[in-house]
Amino acid sequence: MTVMTTSSMPRKKGIREISPIDVYKLLPKTNCQECHESNCMAFATKLVNGELVLTDCPPLFTGEYQDARDALLHLLAPPVRAVTFGSGAQQCTIGGKHVLQRHEFTYHNPTAIAIDVDDLMPEEELRARINRIGQFTYNYIGRNLSLNAVAIRSISGDPSAFGRAAKAVAGSTGLPIILCSTDPVVIRAGLAETRDRRPLLYAATEKNWKEMADLALAFHVPLVVRTNGDLSLLRTLIRTLNSCGLADLVLDPGTLAEDGLFETIHAFTAIRTAACRDFDELFGHPLLGVPLAVWTGGEISMDVLKWREAVTASMLLSRYADILIMHSLDGWVLLPQLIWRFNLYTDPRKPVSVESGIRIFGKPDKNSPVLITTNYALTFFTVESDIKAANLDCFLLVVDSGGLSVESAVAGRYFSADSIVTALKDMQAETLVNHRILIIPGLAARLSGETEEATGWKILVGPKDSSGLPQYLKEHWPPRSDTA
Ligand code: SF4
Repeated sequence: MTVMTTSSMPRKKGIREISPIDVYKLLPKTNCQECHESNCMAFATKLVNGELVLTDCPPLFTGEYQDARDALLHLLAPPVRAVTFGSGAQQCTIGGKHVLQRHEFTYHNPTAIAIDVDDLMPEEELRARINRIGQFTYNYIGRNLSLNAVAIRSISGDPSAFGRAAKAVAGSTGLPIILCSTDPVVIRAGLAETRDRRPLLYAATEKNWKEMADLALAFHVPLVVRTNGDLSLLRTLIRTLNSCGLADLVLDPGTLAEDGLFETIHAFTAIRTAACRDFDELFGHPLLGVPLAVWTGGEISMDVLKWREAVTASMLLSRYADILIMHSLDGWVLLPQLIWRFNLYTDPRKPVSVESGIRIFGKPDKNSPVLITTNYALTFFTVESDIKAANLDCFLLVVDSGGLSVESAVAGRYFSADSIVTALKDMQAETLVNHRILIIPGLAARLSGETEEATGWKILVGPKDSSGLPQYLKEHWPPRSDTA
């Protein structure tokens, strides 16, 4: 079999330019189905779409196909390298981006959010803060959103104090750790207490790069390279560190507080554009932003500082930070970041959906109302929350609308008289209640006539917004005998 070797490979292509045929040519072509696909071409198509990964083809990882595997790894490697730190189940991977813009191809590896602690904190305070970081979760349309790492900052400059703080953090949480100091002696003290946790080192600079590179190589850990907005210097440092044998680098071009935010966003955009559009390998590393930098600004109220940190974090999430170090633990600062991150990293080709089927609320009986809605996650959880908040006893039929909201599903015929007929039948709705009355969402009002005809059920049109359900049921349930 003739394959390209990595040294003879053509210029790197973007993921959108790679065709399944490019991939197929390098696969074993035995159609053995060990990947659970019908043949190698089907596997190649899913690989290019990001639905499968190379390791899903076991034969490729035998000696026979080593050259082909190397060629595929090169062909499919993202222009932004993926870097992993931490250990165990909470290990964190950042970067691994294939494209500049989200709509070009799904983003992978959501931006990690780290919260700082420092080595001047009394141990009790430090442990309490670590607990708050670990317990900070928010359930958003069925997904638990949480924080991802702890950044330990050396404020004292004392290696012993930093080592103690690192030991306390490592003993209190399984979250990945970032060791923050520009003094290699301090970093070494932290590494001595966290070496089995594969921490991220922050940071190599123009002044300390040699010592920090030695530590990163000796402890096999990734390293952040930091400058203060000087991209030429950043390139020089990256090149030098690469030549030392360090590939797992994370780039911090500097986060400037207040009026410097424009410059910061410009630098992040320039770096990511160079990596994804021009395949600039030096800039092909994850980006680190430090919204915490706003806390070094002038005298100002705490709320304004928190607001600035929130704004800076949102801007950096949008332009193109792979990891953020933050300070505030207030819900109003962090929740917008977690939700914005969730939405940025949701596959735009696949609406977020829930399982179709019957949901039972409270203690409904044979005379309770039967409601129906679609399986778009945001729709379902909004309806669920409104029903629960009002303590309603009812049945809710959730129809598979392909994850579309009511209005879109009605327009696209994913929520129609036919799909309601199927749902009533599949969910055996007639066994739930003695009546034959179905309450459809107000946004699906135009389906009422044809649905009544197709199902034989009396159709009532509910409110357009599920927050109106309690009042609606108060006024319309049980229905008057002349409407039932
Ligand atoms: S496991 Fe590999 S060789 Fe087998 S069918 Fe899938 S892609 Fe082809």
